[in-house]
Amino acid sequence: MSNAMSLHTIPRFRPLMPARYTEGRSSLRLKRLPRSSHDRDNAEEVRLRGQELDETHARLDAAINTMTHGLIMVNEELGVVLCNRQLRAMFKFDADIVRPGAAMREVLSHSIDVGNHPGATPDQLLAELHELLRPGLRASFSQNIQDGRVVSVNWEPLETGGWMCTCEDITVREAATARAVYLACHDAVTDLPNRHALLGILQTAWPEPEAPGFSLLCIEIDRFQSICDTRGHCTGDILLQEIAARLGSCVRAGDRVAHLGGASFGVMQAAPATPALAQRLAARLIETLQTPIRTEGRSLLATVSIGIAFADTQTSGPADVLRNATLAMHLAADKGGNCANLYGADMDRTAQARHELELDLRGALDARQFEVLYQPLVSAKTRTITGFEALLRWRHPVRGMVSPADFIPLAEQLGLIRPIGEWVLRTACAEAATWPAPVRVAVNLSPEQFTGVEGAGLVDIVADILATTGLDGTRLELEITESVRMQEDAATLDTLHALRRLGARISLDDFGTGYSSLSYLRSFPFDKIKIDQSFVRALPGQEATAIVRAVVSLGASLGITTVAEGVETELQLQALVAEACDELQGYLFSKPRPACDAAGLIAAAPIQLAA
Ligand code: C2E
Ligand code: CA
Ligand code: CA
Repeated sequence: MSNAMSLHTIPRFRPLMPARYTEGRSSLRLKRLPRSSHDRDNAEEVRLRGQELDETHARLDAAINTMTHGLIMVNEELGVVLCNRQLRAMFKFDADIVRPGAAMREVLSHSIDVGNHPGATPDQLLAELHELLRPGLRASFSQNIQDGRVVSVNWEPLETGGWMCTCEDITVREAATARAVYLACHDAVTDLPNRHALLGILQTAWPEPEAPGFSLLCIEIDRFQSICDTRGHCTGDILLQEIAARLGSCVRAGDRVAHLGGASFGVMQAAPATPALAQRLAARLIETLQTPIRTEGRSLLATVSIGIAFADTQTSGPADVLRNATLAMHLAADKGGNCANLYGADMDRTAQARHELELDLRGALDARQFEVLYQPLVSAKTRTITGFEALLRWRHPVRGMVSPADFIPLAEQLGLIRPIGEWVLRTACAEAATWPAPVRVAVNLSPEQFTGVEGAGLVDIVADILATTGLDGTRLELEITESVRMQEDAATLDTLHALRRLGARISLDDFGTGYSSLSYLRSFPFDKIKIDQSFVRALPGQEATAIVRAVVSLGASLGITTVAEGVETELQLQALVAEACDELQGYLFSKPRPACDAAGLIAAAPIQLAA
């Protein structure tokens, strides 16, 4: 059972008991018979001995043929003494060839014929066997045989001379071990090397002192948890697999892609490490995600945040460069995602500051550090206040007033925007209920508030707030931006329609800043379009005027109210009035003001321009 393909041979010395000569002893106990019947007695004794021997043989046969191992016993001349059924089945041996009395050479030759030892010759196998079977030596090895099976072979010398070989089919066990070894360094969902394996890859690729280093990109899917909460974990897995495939399509030979766990991937870009090359790869990755991903018959647009770091003289090893790239990635996510960020030494300080901000933000709601300010929306025709936009502020005990632009992206990442957003809605509706009808309140909604999780959904929350504050639903406006991805998500569209059924009006905020504002308008019958400040600021410039004119006429033809945000100057105001924009909002009328100022502003109609 040896051949050139043995995986390993582990001869082990074992002290052998000296073979004892046992002739003349018999295990049979025979009755003494009277002399007179000597011949008859002899015949009887022989018959009984024969019978007992037959029984012993039968028992032995039964035992060796029911054991799970294959077994073959050979004498010192390598002639087969005994061989069980399992061994013949395991090696596909013919019982007429592999039988007691056959020479081992015949057995090996037959074993070659049935395909157990591709490329081997009987002489070669026999020489190997002689090499293996040394007196007093035990030999174990595993051997690949036909059909891709693996057999563990164990030769033991016998006290009485000769050898016994036991064989076990370990194909399943070997496969399980191989799988366990594979899984220890691969991710089961994407089949990519895992974090542990990537660190090994980076170690191997680590540059010599003067050699060019490599770049490492850490990539995280933006809002992955929300996607899983809304679409289910099956979609999450498909998304991971698709992103893994797209990353694979962006890299070059020699680059390596790994799945670091969760929604994070790592890409080692082979040397040379230059910011330009790494950023080009990052741009390719972002670009490839512009094409929606199909999952379960629906499409999904995913974005990623990318952090880039370099293996160079500044870094001490793979763990260090991975940490730097991860840090840069988190800061890219803080900027709202869908972008790449190069690691810089100052990031450690930024990360520390972010960490502190995170701790403070987690406690801010309980510590009652939030406030809502209200900025009037003014009718261009009557100059009366039609409503107020509720704008969140964080009064930090040390930092002072923190802008929502600085903490809302963080609150979204930390999953805090839902409770904070609910608090804003409740506070603003309670406040608006004290204003005279029909003055409305507009509340900003984050995309995260649309994702379904355990607990009440957005529609239930709004319904409850309207009921408890007594505000009529028609006096509530909800502002969303294009980052609420309703084209790809039927559930979000359902939520918007359900909010509409509660009486609320839906406004499209920051119109014109997204990639597909016009097609976005088609996905839902919005009540209001808010023209982004960037266009208003450029008024009365030619291009901005043309854009405002186009949006206003589009709104008029669709029956949608148009609002201009960020109106700061009288020139801008005149341009907007000339273009027949319906409503105006901006510092020219009022900055966002505390709730206590609202009643006075409403009463002082028509509103005066701020000084
Ligand atoms: P936004 O919804 O586009 O809000 C308008 C922003 O423009 C506000 O900034 C407002 O103070 C500012 N603004 C108003 N008039 C003028 C003007 O004449 N000139 C200039 N330069 N700015 C003006 P703010 O309050 O800092 O809010 C920034 C953003 O934070 C908001 O942009 C909104 O996206 C977000 N935000 C504010 N409150 C909330 C909230 O309660 N929930 C959510 N999810 N987001 C909020
Ligand atoms: Ca807004
Ligand atoms: Ca806006």
